[in-house]
Amino acid sequence: MSSNVTNRKPNRDSLTAVNDDGSRFIIHPSDVSGRFTLARKVSAYALILVYAALPWVQIGGYPAVFLDTNAMRFHFFGMTFASQDLWLAFFLITGLGFGLFYVTALLGRIWCGWACPQTVFLEHVYRRIERFIEGDAIARRKLDSSPWGPRRIWKRGLKHAAFLGLSLLLAHMFMAYFVSVPGLWDMMREAPAENWKVFLFVFAFSGVLYFNFAWFREQLCIVICPYGRLQSALIDEHSMVIGYDEKRGEPRGKAKDEAAGDCIDCNRCVQVCPTGIDIRQGLQMECIGCSACIDACDTVMDKLKRDRGLIRYDSMEGLAGRKTRYLRPRMILYTALLLLGAVVLAFSLQGLGSASMTAWRTPGAPYFTNNELVRNQFMVRVTNKSNEGSFYRLELDKQLPEARVMGVGEPFFIDGNGELVKPVVIVVDRDRYTGGFSMTVRVVDDQGKTLMQRPLEFIGPTKKLAN
Ligand code: SF4
Ligand code: SF4
Repeated sequence: MSSNVTNRKPNRDSLTAVNDDGSRFIIHPSDVSGRFTLARKVSAYALILVYAALPWVQIGGYPAVFLDTNAMRFHFFGMTFASQDLWLAFFLITGLGFGLFYVTALLGRIWCGWACPQTVFLEHVYRRIERFIEGDAIARRKLDSSPWGPRRIWKRGLKHAAFLGLSLLLAHMFMAYFVSVPGLWDMMREAPAENWKVFLFVFAFSGVLYFNFAWFREQLCIVICPYGRLQSALIDEHSMVIGYDEKRGEPRGKAKDEAAGDCIDCNRCVQVCPTGIDIRQGLQMECIGCSACIDACDTVMDKLKRDRGLIRYDSMEGLAGRKTRYLRPRMILYTALLLLGAVVLAFSLQGLGSASMTAWRTPGAPYFTNNELVRNQFMVRVTNKSNEGSFYRLELDKQLPEARVMGVGEPFFIDGNGELVKPVVIVVDRDRYTGGFSMTVRVVDDQGKTLMQRPLEFIGPTKKLAN
């Protein structure tokens, strides 16, 4: 791994995080302050607070967000989804996808710079710790190039110990979303062998977090993240991006040079960039929209008593001095698709009952028959998705005077978030048997309201064979 003793000049034709010989170039962005940096800090710490708090906040007796892998239930702000409701994930995933398309077409990489966990934790937690232990960017570069001695070993050791501890903490916080905080606490007090799968996951996930935040860093955005690579397809000339006003800034020159533009080529915008690029070279895939260069340049402009905004949030059209159009065909299409998805999801959620049901034929022979009867046997699983226990009843949609039906009609109790598998047996005497027929089994609550229904098929030998 090669360290950067100085900040080098970014080159559009090569990756900023890779040296010419292929080794890693460690980027040490300089500190920056300003209105966007402050706003980003506030939003990042608020997001971290939400991430840490969600498993602790109880709604309806369960954590606000709890993917209960043991019971195969997903509790989400008071709503409970069973595994049978998995189809709703389609709306969730497509909704998130279209939401991201929409936001990107309108606001560029606002997600990356302001809300992506990678940026939030790297810039506002890990780099802060690094800054605290090793000093500012210049001190960090010096430390990189200093010989291994007690000072470097101590600082590096302390930093990596802190990174490891933090990665372990974040992995445990993540696990709490799946096993709940009390569940996690119980597991932590037991021997690792008792819950070896969870232990292994937390261990491996901590390792991944440590590797990513301690070393891999901006390469995740540049090399791995597919969202960054999709940018050129998702944005257009009217999307808001962070850009350099070339008309105003060029030709670069000294502050006193009256023939020069506003850019004094101080390189501050490059020094603060966490991906090491020069935004003056135009919009680049590596730009995560963090706005650090805006604050850096605004500070320079303030000192020069020039207008802010040489680097700013604007569309490419706006930067070229033309008007930005917000209402564009792709925005109308994305809005329509998002609205359509939201309406379908709202209807689907309304239709989600407090109980669900699955029914299947008992494994083995599809039916039993002898000289006296034809018998079909089904299993019906009823899941109570509410947090309160309730009485239920199974009913068939039609009277079957020719048959004896067992398992239907009598009420049964299921605990909150519990389930019960009930056998339903239908027997038709051979002399009354006239062939197979269809019916519907439904689960009703104690008020008689149908909560869900499933089709059943009674089958037997063909009438000819039966006779
Ligand atoms: S910070 Fe502003 S003035 Fe300095 S090099 Fe960047 S664009 Fe030019
Ligand atoms: S170019 Fe500016 S906005 Fe883009 S990543 Fe670098 S500092 Fe952040």
